[in-house]
Amino acid sequence: MKDRTDHSDFYLKLTLLGTGTIRSQDGRACTSILLESSESTFLIDCGSGSWLRLHELKRDINHIDHIFLTHFHPDHISDLIPLLFSRYHAISPPSHAIRIYGAPGLIKLYKGLSEAFGVWMNDSRFQVTELTKPLSRISDFQVTTFALNHAPESIGYRFKKAQKVISISGDSGPCPELIELCRNADIAILECSFPDDQPDEHHLTPSEAGQIARQAGVKKLILSHFYPEVLRENIMLQASRNFSGEIQLAEDGDSILL
Ligand SMILES: [Zn+2]
Ligand SMILES: [Zn+2]
Repeated sequence: MKDRTDHSDFYLKLTLLGTGTIRSQDGRACTSILLESSESTFLIDCGSGSWLRLHELKRDINHIDHIFLTHFHPDHISDLIPLLFSRYHAISPPSHAIRIYGAPGLIKLYKGLSEAFGVWMNDSRFQVTELTKPLSRISDFQVTTFALNHAPESIGYRFKKAQKVISISGDSGPCPELIELCRNADIAILECSFPDDQPDEHHLTPSEAGQIARQAGVKKLILSHFYPEVLRENIMLQASRNFSGEIQLAEDGDSILL
């Protein structure tokens, strides 16, 4: 993690902590993405294995300022408890609160988790915010949310800083909002759950993801959230049928500097 005391320059880095799904595979934790800037550190989703990946990649959990949840399926949130518990028991706990964002329903979810896991979760250093408006200013980013086609609470996040745009879908099937989420993005990280011959209304195939990227005018498409069956196919070939821009198939630990 970049030392926040020695930078005045523009700094924006994405790290893919987890690129898999709940169907476990070698080398892939469940979904999680780290977004680091010169002023803040965001974690977008924190599925199983992301807590371990942070340690492996030498990232300090105490530096995370904000956690954004795309939806409440376990492969996107189940390391929230160890992340917060680790923070709660930090030897040198950070003075600032960690803020957790999600769609309406997040407070109910958090309350239920705290009833199950203990009152320590009600510590004032853990702040839970439901995003009820589509546009927010959070730290050094403009954050726009889009309701997507997956679970009722699913939202995608569009992070903008200094004219750089990063769009992150979480899980979603094709929908007009997904195109708007990704409109002219420098980087769009889309899920790519199933191969072209096994489409699912609430997920994307490679060619559907490519089509979204083309319609949105994305500069670089990163595909992630792979079920084992799609990994047996030529994902690049299927995605590039509809998108001629740069495509990256995500692996755990990949980093992209913007
Ligand atoms: Zn899901
Ligand atoms: Zn998922």
